[in-house]
Amino acid sequence: MTALDSHANPELAVFIRRLPKAELHVHIEGTLEPELIFKFARRNQITLAYESVEDLRNAYAFTNLQSFLDIYYAGMAVLQTQQDYREMTWAYLQRAHADGVVHAEIMVDGQAHTHRDIPLSTVFAGMAEAMHQARDELGLSSYLILSFLRDFPEDDALDTLEEALALRVQYQDLWVGVGLSSAELGNPPEKFTRLYDYARSLGFRCVAHAGEEGPAEYIRGALDDLKVERIDHGVACEHDPTLLERIIREQIPLTMCPLSNLRLGVVDNLSQHNAAKLLRQGACVTINSDDPSYFGGYIVDNYLAAAQALQLSKAELVEIAKNSLSGSFLSLHARQALLERHPFPVI
Ligand SMILES: [Zn+2]
Repeated sequence: MTALDSHANPELAVFIRRLPKAELHVHIEGTLEPELIFKFARRNQITLAYESVEDLRNAYAFTNLQSFLDIYYAGMAVLQTQQDYREMTWAYLQRAHADGVVHAEIMVDGQAHTHRDIPLSTVFAGMAEAMHQARDELGLSSYLILSFLRDFPEDDALDTLEEALALRVQYQDLWVGVGLSSAELGNPPEKFTRLYDYARSLGFRCVAHAGEEGPAEYIRGALDDLKVERIDHGVACEHDPTLLERIIREQIPLTMCPLSNLRLGVVDNLSQHNAAKLLRQGACVTINSDDPSYFGGYIVDNYLAAAQALQLSKAELVEIAKNSLSGSFLSLHARQALLERHPFPVI
């Protein structure tokens, strides 16, 4: 679908690709393409439930968030060694670079690995190798956000954070924040108040998924109880006018992911997505890929699909890209340096 879209409007695709962009909402495990799943399975002598890459890709017919999560966790079972984490991360960073991403803030679901007895030291080491290579060879900076699984108890997240803290000094140039993801409904933000209080006291930047399948109330909870600086998704904010007014007034970035929302049934049709409406009301909307290998598109595909479905103008696309940089955790100095190297087009 997205390939057809880019052929349908190659000029717009080139324009979007050339915009300097930050990707603020991507799960590294969600960038694992079926070809890599098969490669790692072979290397690690793991038997997959699918005969071929095609079979696996055909299984990506999701009906809701849970149906996606089931296959997402099954796929990442092939990740075993530092080399696997390095190759997965490097594949994403190369792809992001080709899409004009100049800075990426990448989430990793720590517990999805520690629960399989893969130590975080292996995960971080592999990812860091690729992230440093991207910085040195591609000029692409990136940060790591340790994201916790909200369908597990808060104590499990706290244990994972403790394990990760042993790595903090070693990866202080990369690991800047914490996040909250996975099954949203029934797992409200306030379940993780102690975790976020602790992480914030340690100086971590805080984000959380909210208002994807969950209600606007979860967005309010993420802001009030977890005191996050960004909301991942935030689609439901429009159902609460007071909350929306606050999100606009405080310019809280929303890291929206149109193709993900389409594939998981958050919207039935992209033309119903509220990214453009929220942007035009003054919200700090950004566009991202979430789990691109599973949802049919990387960041340019998401920009392009949204631009076509929502009639976003070039000026609005520039505004979204600018929001992604201002909504990032880069220092003002680092952001300015990036913009000097990658200036925005004048519309
Ligand atoms: Zn996500």
